Amino acid sequence: MSTQNIEKHEFQAEIKQLLDIVIHSLYTEKEIFVRELISNASDALEKLRHLKITEKEVFDDNLPLEINITTDDKANTLTIQDFGVGMSKDELTQFLGTIAHSGSKQFLQAIKEGGEKNENLIGQFGVGFYSAFMVAKEVKVYSHSWKTDEPGHVWSSDGSGAYEIEEVEGQRRGAKIVITLQDGEKKYASKDTISEIIKRYSSFVQFPINLNGEKVNTIDALWLRSKSEIKDEEYTEFYKFQANAFDEPHYRLHFSADAPLDIQALLFTPKTNPERAGFGRIDPAVALHCRKVLIDPKPKELLPEWLRYLKGVVDSADLPLNISRETMQDGGLTQKLGRVLTKRYLKSLAEEAKKRPEQYAEFFKNFGIYLKEGVAMDFTYRDDLAKLLYFESSVSEKGKTTSLADYVSRMKDDQKEIYYILGQNRESIESGPYLEGFKARGLEVLFLYEPIDEYVMSNLGKFDEKGLVSADQGDLKLDEAPASEGEPLSEDDAKALCSWLKNAIGERVKEVKVSSRLIDSPVMALSPDAMSSQMRRMMRQMGQENPMPVEVLFEINPRHALIKNLNTQRQSNEDLAKLVAQQAFDNALVAAGLLEDPKDMVTRMYQILEQAATK
Ligand code: ADP
Ligand code: MG
Repeated sequence: MSTQNIEKHEFQAEIKQLLDIVIHSLYTEKEIFVRELISNASDALEKLRHLKITEKEVFDDNLPLEINITTDDKANTLTIQDFGVGMSKDELTQFLGTIAHSGSKQFLQAIKEGGEKNENLIGQFGVGFYSAFMVAKEVKVYSHSWKTDEPGHVWSSDGSGAYEIEEVEGQRRGAKIVITLQDGEKKYASKDTISEIIKRYSSFVQFPINLNGEKVNTIDALWLRSKSEIKDEEYTEFYKFQANAFDEPHYRLHFSADAPLDIQALLFTPKTNPERAGFGRIDPAVALHCRKVLIDPKPKELLPEWLRYLKGVVDSADLPLNISRETMQDGGLTQKLGRVLTKRYLKSLAEEAKKRPEQYAEFFKNFGIYLKEGVAMDFTYRDDLAKLLYFESSVSEKGKTTSLADYVSRMKDDQKEIYYILGQNRESIESGPYLEGFKARGLEVLFLYEPIDEYVMSNLGKFDEKGLVSADQGDLKLDEAPASEGEPLSEDDAKALCSWLKNAIGERVKEVKVSSRLIDSPVMALSPDAMSSQMRRMMRQMGQENPMPVEVLFEINPRHALIKNLNTQRQSNEDLAKLVAQQAFDNALVAAGLLEDPKDMVTRMYQILEQAATK
């Protein structure tokens, strides 16, 4: 063959970077490359199966849809061939030489942001093809596209920085990957080794895999078999295979239905949440099948977005076989299918929460955020989802959670609303001034720790006909508190003190009044509108400048020594009393998360200390 037709190309810079990571630090298990190449072969065959339905002409039309693997321990090679869609010259350059496809892009992004801390998660990205270079001295990809009008090509590279492409005669449709192994990796040229690896990672591939001419997999659509025949290990293996996962499923749901649609579904809830580990937004991954034939591995329109963490398979004989990935969107059928699945899955979660609360709590810790997203964004399932929310509360032990329904079952006879409060953690809520008024009246308060929680509550508005109310809201009416200890200021004194305070603090406060909620603390700040002050603080922390001007209500506890002393002092030493008033107000703002600028507070504190030290 003349060498004039050989084209040399450099890999894109990102690919070089990627290759470097893949070769040197990605997988501890190098054997994974076999799985990656088989999964590419299987993808290529799936794509061809679809093309055969939609296209008039396909190159090498009568080739079987299968994967042929050969080992040669003399030549020290491993060959993986499929009769799938293949790649044209442009596609070889684009798919194997640039970062165009999503998997690798996401992967690099994740590596940059999250580091290499979690190998399991990294594995889920399937940087696929390049993993061959962990064991290869050289990789050659012989390929002929399914399109008839272009000749075959061979792509070759040693993985160092460049690759070559050359035209070749006599190629069959699909791709044939020939790996010449590095000296230290000769075991991958042994039939037994490869056979074992296929069993471990690829036994669920939906096309025949022949190893040196012998079929090695059983093509088994696990989801179509009856539950009673399937062992736990088979489910777990299938999950790992199908979701490209390294963890075990936390829950699995295998069910079938025939009305309103024919459905066989196998849904897995993972143990780990990749979004929480900083790996960016995940794609939906419940694959859609029709009578075992894969229609779309990542259908966007099937399930609601907040269920994007689910893995698994749905098979419906009611879907038209020739439905293409592009036309799926306008199929109301897929949405209908999605609704049935969603309802069924939520029901199973509700059952799990009842039957095995601890396991559910573990699930909720990792994936509760998605359910909350659902409550906030998706009206359709709001009521079902609300029942699945769990929070700590003022009556729960630290670390234990309660559902809204359980809260309602504990409500006092005359209690009409469900109270909650948002804070950084249990300690900061319990040490703040807001809880005491509720405690004294025997009212339970839910503790919310995540900014989205309050958003969820205000979107939900009600649960079981009971309003959801933030405990640091200004216009909250509570019943008369049981008499607490200590003589309060007289009503007149208290009134006079309030108007004096209003003056002393100035325009930073909207109104000062005697509190009906304070028991142990001297003062508290409240925001009059629905957005709680904690929410504001969190919004500010998330980088939002001044999320709406704040009008602060200031409440005082007329039984507290500080307040009583202040009332005396304002008549004997008004200058100092003013400083104390300002300081008490700032303290309340701090507890409410409303203090914008602590600078004045520090200066003032020194002035107070100075006077305290001279007396
Ligand atoms: P991914 O499979 O996640 O897309 P890979 O690195 O495994 O990433 O593969 C890159 C791309 O190369 C694939 O998306 C596909 O377009 C192409 N490709 C790889 N192997 C084959 C094959 N056997 N047949 C056809 N195309 C392939
Ligand atoms: Mg791949």
